[in-house]
Amino acid sequence: MFRSLHMKLVLVLILLEISVMSVVGIFLINSVSDYEMNGFLTQMSSVFTPELISSLERAAEKNDISDLRNMLNAYSAPLGIGENRMFFILDPETGEYLAGSDDERGASLPLTPNVIKAMTGEVGQTAETLSESFDVAIPLRSGDKITYIIGVNDTRAELSALIWNILTMLVRALFFGLLVAILLSFLLSKTITVPIERLTKQATDIASGDFSERAEVLNSDEIGTLTRTFNDMAETLGSTLREVGEERNKLETLFKHMADGVVAFDARGKLINVNPAAQEMLGRTLSEGDQYTDIFPDLEIPTDGMREDGHFMELLHRTGEKVLKMYIAPITVGEPLQGIMIVLHDITEQEKLDESRREFVANVSHELRTPLTNIKGYTETLIDAGADIDEETEKSFLGVIYDESDRMTRIVKDLLTLSRLDNGRMEMQMAEMSLKDAAESAVKAMKIDAEGHGLSFTSAIPDGMPEVVGDKGRIQQVIINLISNAVKYNRPDGSIEVTGGAEDGYAFISVRDTGLGIPKADLPHFFARFYRVDKARSRKMGGTGLGLAIAKEIVEAHGGKITFDSVYGKGSCVTVFLPVPEKER
Ligand code: ADP
Repeated sequence: MFRSLHMKLVLVLILLEISVMSVVGIFLINSVSDYEMNGFLTQMSSVFTPELISSLERAAEKNDISDLRNMLNAYSAPLGIGENRMFFILDPETGEYLAGSDDERGASLPLTPNVIKAMTGEVGQTAETLSESFDVAIPLRSGDKITYIIGVNDTRAELSALIWNILTMLVRALFFGLLVAILLSFLLSKTITVPIERLTKQATDIASGDFSERAEVLNSDEIGTLTRTFNDMAETLGSTLREVGEERNKLETLFKHMADGVVAFDARGKLINVNPAAQEMLGRTLSEGDQYTDIFPDLEIPTDGMREDGHFMELLHRTGEKVLKMYIAPITVGEPLQGIMIVLHDITEQEKLDESRREFVANVSHELRTPLTNIKGYTETLIDAGADIDEETEKSFLGVIYDESDRMTRIVKDLLTLSRLDNGRMEMQMAEMSLKDAAESAVKAMKIDAEGHGLSFTSAIPDGMPEVVGDKGRIQQVIINLISNAVKYNRPDGSIEVTGGAEDGYAFISVRDTGLGIPKADLPHFFARFYRVDKARSRKMGGTGLGLAIAKEIVEAHGGKITFDSVYGKGSCVTVFLPVPEKER
């Protein structure tokens, strides 16, 4: 109940008022009592002058108590004798009441300290604030003997009535004061609690993420300052959080769309974050809480070593067909290790490229070594034989040497052509050209060769094929190459057919043969450098194994494509597609 600020204020004000009233009451009652007491004593000493006491002593010597009584009675008015105040004459030995103004009260008059003092011969005129009554007691002497004790006793009834009145007044004042205190506490608490309640509401809004609310500054007191500071704080907090949010959004976007995969695990090996690239690389959907050991079962990370170095470490991880390079870094917020962060880099393509480069170098070396070995062998034999060799053999040896060096020249020439095509340094004489014309020129050039091989050679290139843009000489060379292959790898009495047409924005020329074809498994390698189904046959035919690779590069440099279809043992069909410019379509 007293938890609220308001109730605390009410309680404080009530306690404050009660304590103020109590202090005032005690002070007032004490002052009134002292005033009354001193008034009584002053009144007594002004009446009981030494002269009056002497005449009373003289009267007492006569031992006539009624005379003494009458004398005192004569001073009733100045002594204030009345209902509450009486004079008395006491026996000096026993303190017994002998006569006075009120015999009834006199009979039960107590032996006060003043009376006892008077019985010893001294005037008793001390008064205590809290004593039951005020009195003075005067011994009347006759020589050394005390004849009587006279005095006045006041019941303090008037003072008590006065004190009672004061108390009643104080209680009333207290009651009204309490009402005022409660009212004041309401007003006071409102001026304090209303701004605090507003601040509390604003704090609740901020806690729930709403930074737009501002508390109104009502006063320039401490609460006003607090409200202003709080508003400033909300403003700063809001803008800081906005900046942090924007930064986090940027990072999140980067995290989601980056090409590298990122996976993070906590110290117990539980997945805490993963991006889509990582899931794609690992070929599975991951979710928070997945265990490291499930995701990378064969990959143990020596985390201790990593922590000592303070560096990331690199590992190579193969999953399915993918080759991933893993950069593993510790997540440390001071010590100890909080977890690990793994950045995955897909190097499958790079690995493939490296592999094909290695293969290519090995192929080039091999292709060049074979003719070189032959040249060296035949030359050595010729040198060793000297004049012992007959002219015909010598001629045939020199012929081989010539052919082999010729083959080497062709390989080197083809390699240079490929290298130029790879680097985009091959000059092309681009112009509008007719694919039909180029194909027909190629057919014409190859007709004698084909027929010389006993092959039937037909061409059915339709009229009205759209014009294309290209280097006519090179395109023609490509088609010659394809026809030459169709001749070389054909069967005896086979046939070759050159056709053409246009589809899907391309003009195309197909060379179809009824030759050897190539095995289905080799189809993807058909355009690879140095690919040959039968190396010996190809070499015999003077092939380098680079003709198709060059053809493919030239066609692609024209924005076209080259396709190959083959049934092993039955025949093949190679088609060159070149894009038709928009206006020709
Ligand atoms: P090559 O100089 O050996 O002819 P190419 O690059 O022109 O080199 O051809 C590569 C290989 O592809 C050939 O060695 C051959 O085995 C095969 N090939 C090419 N064209 C055909 C075809 N029309 N029919 C069957 N095999 C072919």
